[in-house]
Amino acid sequence: MNTKIKRKTIKWIILGIVLLILISISTILYINSYYIYILGEYFGVNCEKIEINKVYPEDIVQFTLDELSSNDKIEFNQSMMLINTDFPLKNDFVPVISQYKDTDVKMNNCMHDAYTSLSVAVTENTGEKIFISSDYRTDSQQQEEYNENPSSATKPGASEHQSGLALDIYSPYYAGFSFIKTEAGQFVNSNCWKYGFIIRYPSFGKNETGIKYEPWHIRYVGEPHSKIIYNNHLTLEDYILYYENDVWYEIDGYLISRQTLSSNNTLKIPKDYSEVVISPDNTGYYIVTVLKNK
Ligand SMILES: [Zn+2]
Repeated sequence: MNTKIKRKTIKWIILGIVLLILISISTILYINSYYIYILGEYFGVNCEKIEINKVYPEDIVQFTLDELSSNDKIEFNQSMMLINTDFPLKNDFVPVISQYKDTDVKMNNCMHDAYTSLSVAVTENTGEKIFISSDYRTDSQQQEEYNENPSSATKPGASEHQSGLALDIYSPYYAGFSFIKTEAGQFVNSNCWKYGFIIRYPSFGKNETGIKYEPWHIRYVGEPHSKIIYNNHLTLEDYILYYENDVWYEIDGYLISRQTLSSNNTLKIPKDYSEVVISPDNTGYYIVTVLKNK
């Protein structure tokens, strides 16, 4: 064979290989279209960045915890707890949980209504239903879980399930990672923030959370936090630790601040507000979320 023909043959072989690779990739993506969905979430294609501005509101008033908790417009809950191996639950932590509707499921009191809204929205938008495979766990149940799967389960104290704020959900026949293959799974992953939930271990967050992507594990944080976390493409670690002590931030019609309790047991809130939610964050601070008066 002369060199000219040789070169031509090699060219055709290379072209053939490239074509074969392209066809294989397209076939894989066509059959497993959820890969494209995961890629989109990884890069945050549906996110619309929300501005976070430091502000210096006038008329900030100090109140004791007793005064705050006797006020009807102020809700105390546990929604903003950061729970991980760096910030495990304290030994004296008591989750505020109760039975969800007339089921055996136990979840944190602050999220009952939000979960109902989410599950109704899933069915309305996808025609599919979601179910709960894992809800609140006691310390000893988490220990059992850890003994069975030491590589994937967290040690007792470091699991969000012990706060009742997290749920593992599935759609029939699609539990665990397969959940993301379903319309319901993709709807939950892209839209649960509208109902106060976040995907606690997102595909892009392993460096911060220490846990690989769990599209089935939803965590309640409440609004507007879920909206900010999803749209600014953050993990809960990034988000809570971002707030400087005793600074006020204005975000999407809310005033938010992360405060330490003063020596005489007081926290600060603005004089004028529509609603306030106060939650400990399990890192030594309280997160105060104020819906401004319109
Ligand atoms: Zn879970």
